[in-house]
Amino acid sequence: MAGTLFLVPTPIGNLRDISRRMEETLEQADFIAAEDTRVTVKLLNHLGLKKPMLTYHRHNTDSGGQAVIDRLLAGESCALVTDAGTPAISDPGEELVARCAELDIPVCAIPGPCALVTALAVSGQPTSRFTFEGFLAMNKKNRRAHLDALRGEERTMIFYEAPHKLAATLADLSDAFGPDRPLTLCRELTKLHEEVRRTTLGQAATYYRENDPKGEFVLVVRGAEPVQEQEASLEDGMALVDKLRGGGLSLRDAVRQAAGELGLSRKQLYDLAVR
Ligand code: SAM
Repeated sequence: MAGTLFLVPTPIGNLRDISRRMEETLEQADFIAAEDTRVTVKLLNHLGLKKPMLTYHRHNTDSGGQAVIDRLLAGESCALVTDAGTPAISDPGEELVARCAELDIPVCAIPGPCALVTALAVSGQPTSRFTFEGFLAMNKKNRRAHLDALRGEERTMIFYEAPHKLAATLADLSDAFGPDRPLTLCRELTKLHEEVRRTTLGQAATYYRENDPKGEFVLVVRGAEPVQEQEASLEDGMALVDKLRGGGLSLRDAVRQAAGELGLSRKQLYDLAVR
C-alpha cells in the first residue's frame, strides 16, 4: 500500500506559528521533501528533529518528483515543505499532488500559515469572494494579458510580489485599475516589522517610486464596482411597443413582447398603451 504525502505549511516569519500537528507530522514522516534543505534544516534544528531529506523545488519537479513518488509507492510517508507558507501555493507542490492524484496515492494537507489568507483576513477588503492571482509575469505581453483579463473583476484580488519588483507592479496595477482603487499593502506579516497599510494604488505607486521597499509584500486590491444595470421605465416600454406595432404586431402582442424584453409589468404597460 502506498504511503501518504503530507503537505506541511511552515511559518511565514514567526516560529511560534508552528502547530503541534505540523511538528508531529514532520516527526512521524519517513522522509522530508524540502524546497531548500538548508532552510528546512534550521526549522528541524529548532524542533530538535533529525530526518532524511531530499530536495524538491521548481527546477527539479520531474526528477525530484519521481524520487518522491517512487518512495511513496514503496510505502514510505513523505512530508513536503517549502521555505515558508503552504506548499503548492505559489510554491512547489502542485505537480506532485496532481501526480499523486493520478496514481491514487493519498495526500493529506495540514492547515497552517499562508500569506494570502493572512493578508486577506487583515485587509479590511471584502472577503466573501476573492481571487488569488499570485505573481504577475515578468514577460510584458503575458503581464498585460493577465491585467487585461482582470479589468472589470469585481472580486477582491490578491497578488504576491517581490520587493525589487514592487514599484513596477504598483504602477502597472494603477494603470490597469485606476489610481483611486483601494489597496491594502501587507508587509512582513507575522514578523517584527509587520505593517498593514490601507491606501490606494496611485498613492502606493508614488510612495514606492521614491522609497525602496523592504521585506515581503502581499497586495490586496479592491474589486471593481459592480456595473448597475439601468432599469427600463414604462416610457422605454411604450417606445418599444410603438416600434413593434410599426413592424406589424397587434397591440396585445407588442405589449407582451415589450414587457417581457424589458422586465416591465404587462398590465401597467397595456393600461398606458390603451390610454
Ligand atoms: N507558499 C507561500 C504561502 O503560502 O504564502 C508563498 C510563497 S511565495 C514564493 C512568496 C511570496 O509570498 C512573497 O513574495 C510574498 O508576496 C508572500 N509572502 C510570504 N511571506 C510573507 C510575509 N511574511 N509577509 C508578506 N508577504 C509574504
